[in-house]
Amino acid sequence: MTVAFPEVAPLTLPDTGLRIGGRAVAPAAGGGIDAINPATEERITELAAGTAEDVDRAVAAAREAFESGVWSRMPGAERGRILMRAADLIEQHAAVLSTLESTEMGKLYLHTVAGDVPAAAACFRHYAGSADKIYGQSAQLPNVGDQRRFGFTLRQPLGVVGAITPWNNPTVVASWKVAPALAAGCSVVLKPAEDASLAPLRLADLLAEAGVPDGVFNVVTGLGETAGAALAAHPGIDKITFTGSPRVGRQIQSLAGDKFRKVTLELGGKAPQLVFPDADLASAMPWIAMGNFYHQGQVCAAGTRVVVHESIADQVVEGLIEFARGSVVGDPFDPASTQGTIVNERQFERILGYIEKGKAEGADLVTGGARVGDRGYFVEPTVFRGDNSLTIAREEIFGPVATVITFSDADEAVRIANDTQYGLNAFIFSQDLPTVHSVIPQLRVGTVWVNGWGVPDPSLPWGGREASGIGRELGVSGLEAFTEEKTVHLGF
Ligand code: NAD
Repeated sequence: MTVAFPEVAPLTLPDTGLRIGGRAVAPAAGGGIDAINPATEERITELAAGTAEDVDRAVAAAREAFESGVWSRMPGAERGRILMRAADLIEQHAAVLSTLESTEMGKLYLHTVAGDVPAAAACFRHYAGSADKIYGQSAQLPNVGDQRRFGFTLRQPLGVVGAITPWNNPTVVASWKVAPALAAGCSVVLKPAEDASLAPLRLADLLAEAGVPDGVFNVVTGLGETAGAALAAHPGIDKITFTGSPRVGRQIQSLAGDKFRKVTLELGGKAPQLVFPDADLASAMPWIAMGNFYHQGQVCAAGTRVVVHESIADQVVEGLIEFARGSVVGDPFDPASTQGTIVNERQFERILGYIEKGKAEGADLVTGGARVGDRGYFVEPTVFRGDNSLTIAREEIFGPVATVITFSDADEAVRIANDTQYGLNAFIFSQDLPTVHSVIPQLRVGTVWVNGWGVPDPSLPWGGREASGIGRELGVSGLEAFTEEKTVHLGF
């Protein structure tokens, strides 16, 4: 059966003004940033370059909305109804949002329209259902003298949340922050990435259309070092939730620490894919390849260290070569393409630099390694054989570059998997339940996928440790992260 390629919506640009207090407004200083299509290197439009003054205005609008109670004290079921409408609108506008995403950051249209945008809608729908299910605890306490005591906890909305997001999955990563924050009753100021701001601006309009009151959700586009830094440092926010690189995450953590502010950090990854000798390679190979090359490897959860038992290493390398050589790297909107572009010139040069470094350090380049074409930021899916000490195995490349590393027994596999500064996720491929069971608890990561891979599900927590971050998004933890727990001791 042939599945029809989803219809592509024409590029419909949102108003590029900032979204503050329910209106699209010009930035105070009037500057702009060029939005570039990485497949053509052509300018799409100019984004507003928000500054500290704009962040001030957005935080003030969010604070006013929060304190008014228009959203924070609205019954949860009512908030849920509005968020459910938002989910429906995101779904109805999936083609428009996906065209914006794929044009701005080069991901295959098929993947934005069939994967990311529906995942964002699912996240809103999930948290719409949670908005009236924010529970505390209760405890029968011992009497104090002849006074009886009863205790319980309340979970109240935290207040004004600053959210900073990366470019690689702009709508879905925004939804992981915005949907639970709104469900909890918070107000939000979002600073999207400068390489992917158009879909988040459109998202703001959809949320307004769904009935989110003015000032509850605000968007300040702009550069990280100006708008982002101003938001992270702003005294008027109660929490900062950040997804991006460990470099910026570290700065945000120290700013938050200084002000005793709550913080969630979702940072990078360098996930190991542990392939045991009893793996079912026929079903595992597509996952292993996708774990490296999906979205050109520009995925925090990418499994770019393929840690394989020595007895099947040649087979796995052959499988990756076959996948890489069968890839069609090209226009993200062309149904024939299986790989899109790298997001921008800087990232493109960085990836090619890592490939050169891999070769210089003696890794064995088995396929790929070069630019594709001479216009747009296209890179071949690339596979090295090497060991875990190589720079390409230690640093997050955020590109289509796999390193295959061998192990001889399970202890060595676990040692290699954990020999990294990152701890976001890992994959295990094995048909042997005792192996799977014994390896899972030994991996120093937040998530383990067994015999597969995919997008985190809103019903379960997502997050990492060490250089991969602090805290959890999604699941119940991701909702509670936008609440303050208050304990009440009741005497009577
Ligand atoms: P980045 O850190 O360069 O930028 C992320 C965001 O931070 C952008 O909005 C940027 O404008 C802003 N920013 C930059 N400098 C800032 C500053 N000084 N203060 C405040 N904000 C600032 O990251 P990126 O290149 O956009 O994204 C790639 C990174 O994101 C990778 O490391 C990837 O692994 C990570 N990521 C993690 C997850 C996850 O769920 N763990 C998901 C997606 C991406």
